[in-house]
Amino acid sequence: MKPPSNQTTPCASTMPKSSRHIRFPGKTRPNPSTELDAFACLRESLPKRVHRLANRRARTACVFVFIILISSLWCYSADVVFIRSAGTTSSEQRELELATQFYGVNLNVVTAGDNTAGSALREVQRKGTLAVAIEANALALVNREALLRALHREPHGSVPLLVLGVTSEAGPSALSIWSGGAAVGVQHLENQPGLRYVVGHVAGITQQLTDLEIPFPGNDTFYFALAGDQKAQEVLAVRNDHQDVPVFIEAELGQQKIFLLCKTHPAGDNVLEGNANNVQTAFAELAPVMMFIKYGVGERGWHALHHYANLTIDDPWLREPYGDLSYQGLLKEMEKHDFHTTIAFIPWNYDRSEAQTIALFRSHPERFSICIHGNDHDHKEFESLERKPLNTQIGDLKQSLARMEKFQALTGIRYDSVFVFPHSIGTESILEELKTYNFLATVNSSNVPMDRSQPSAPLFALRPVTLSFGGFPSISRYTAGMKDPNDFLGINDFLDNPLFFYTHHDFFASGIGAFDGMADAVNRIEPDTRWRNVGDIVKHLYLMRLRDDSNYDVLAFSNSVELENTSERDLDFEVTRPELGSSTVASVSVDGRDYPFELRGGGLSLRVPVRAGGTRSVVIQCKNDLDLASINPAHDSVRVDLLRMVSDYRDITLSKYQAGRAITDYYYKHGVTPLLAIAFGSTLILFGLGGAWSLWIIMKKKNPVGGSTDVLTKDRVARAAGRG
Ligand SMILES: [Zn+2]
Repeated sequence: MKPPSNQTTPCASTMPKSSRHIRFPGKTRPNPSTELDAFACLRESLPKRVHRLANRRARTACVFVFIILISSLWCYSADVVFIRSAGTTSSEQRELELATQFYGVNLNVVTAGDNTAGSALREVQRKGTLAVAIEANALALVNREALLRALHREPHGSVPLLVLGVTSEAGPSALSIWSGGAAVGVQHLENQPGLRYVVGHVAGITQQLTDLEIPFPGNDTFYFALAGDQKAQEVLAVRNDHQDVPVFIEAELGQQKIFLLCKTHPAGDNVLEGNANNVQTAFAELAPVMMFIKYGVGERGWHALHHYANLTIDDPWLREPYGDLSYQGLLKEMEKHDFHTTIAFIPWNYDRSEAQTIALFRSHPERFSICIHGNDHDHKEFESLERKPLNTQIGDLKQSLARMEKFQALTGIRYDSVFVFPHSIGTESILEELKTYNFLATVNSSNVPMDRSQPSAPLFALRPVTLSFGGFPSISRYTAGMKDPNDFLGINDFLDNPLFFYTHHDFFASGIGAFDGMADAVNRIEPDTRWRNVGDIVKHLYLMRLRDDSNYDVLAFSNSVELENTSERDLDFEVTRPELGSSTVASVSVDGRDYPFELRGGGLSLRVPVRAGGTRSVVIQCKNDLDLASINPAHDSVRVDLLRMVSDYRDITLSKYQAGRAITDYYYKHGVTPLLAIAFGSTLILFGLGGAWSLWIIMKKKNPVGGSTDVLTKDRVARAAGRG
């Protein structure tokens, strides 16, 4: 793997310096005698590898490397066998390496030759072999009948076979023999800009990608000429302005399922080594091979149990309406179109909630939820350490928790300690502090801290969550206003990635149904999508794979994990949470009780039995100095008070008027100029005078009893607490 471009620090902080293996005994350790296999092997092998890695300057890639290690280098006997000819490594092999790493299975590379045919077949026959790929230029070195026999599994099954890298050098007769007569030739499509993949509809393999168009990486490809009798199913075609040509097909050779894939990068022009900066580009590079490997390895590869999605709206507090956002209206849309909304709540607003909206949230926890959005939200609150020292930022984190606890006490609405940074993600150092103070995760438009660059590892862009920074789960989210989202949604669903969307109140200026189309698209592409609060999604953010002993490995990204046994038999889950050092862990509990765990290779692991159909809750707590009782949640800065007042004015008052919206838009496009400041100030004064005049008229008419802001605050608190 190529190291990232911004390596500045070694990964010593995230990897052990020696082969440390610490065991923490506990009273309730379940069935210790069954601890075996993969982890025993890991103990022997991982520290040495990790130690070698520590010498590299690849901090941002370290966790990623770690995940690859635990994915594919444990003594895990699930293999994909790749049969190739002698000579240089092909781009097809590189694609297979990446796809098998992603799914956490081994790639067993066998070079075919006159003297090695027997050993290649023995590898194919092995019980742990889940799928076999063979390079087209090695077909002549393999006895077809013997290979088919080796692929056979009693009583009726067989291991799927992929022939890849097919070019026009494959003669028509060989092609016909290996495709069961489905393909009769191969042709070349050259110099065609703007090509797209078109995904077919093939059971078990195209899944959520079915019928989608996704970008094709390159300008030329080989493609199949098919026999007219429709013996082949088209998994992927490539489309230009005139035609669709099949490049990836499925055919039958008797009982054997065989996939054939043309060489799609004839010029060797793929960008596998790290230019992909989004999931679509990264996936397009590997699409056919990822589809085959996922199909071939099934439960034995890393997969998620469910699909999750969430819409988060940043900034509002609980009043009806907040600018263009009507909570009442949104609830109706959520019920009709089946989605869930989280408010990224500014803790400064902790004591301002209105009773009616509180009641709405409390009676619909399945539709509304709360997470934490900064503390004061004074512009980019968590910024570079030069501009704002780490200690001050830590103080803000602690106060955000104290305020949210107060919010929860006042309103009876629980919150998720998932942190959304105001404006954009902070530094890696503050991510480490989020871990220390037991936040669950951070979700932002980028998962890469402001003082780091995206690692160039080719697989990085394929998952929205990373532990590469401070060992804390950092998750990407996406704008709710995304245009033509189908390929993006299909690819993420195919990869088992959760979908986090975000927006602001003004997204609903066009109508409260503004998100309905996106929710419908998500639910259409993956009907089993679970719309949940962000806390729930983070607790289910883990990958599983079936082990040789019929239990499951679990790769957890968060310190809180809700294990679910959806099977009909009792299971043990071998849970690993990478990137937790012994100095940081204060306790580990399962269902609220202390639980034994082990620390090794910089990560934490434990074995948790879960009954059929049952769930168990794992919580890892880090050591810290948090003392909520000692933190004053009250507003403590006139500057912040004024800023929040202006923000309210912008969102709640200005947004009602065309001129007000224009000023706000201008501000966000151009920042504050003297002219804008004058225009904004004048508008504020005008609206202020207007408001004061109206208030004076109303007061005069009603002859009210006196009231102070203090009374109003108390009234809000009282209503918030359900006392009035
Ligand atoms: Zn915000």
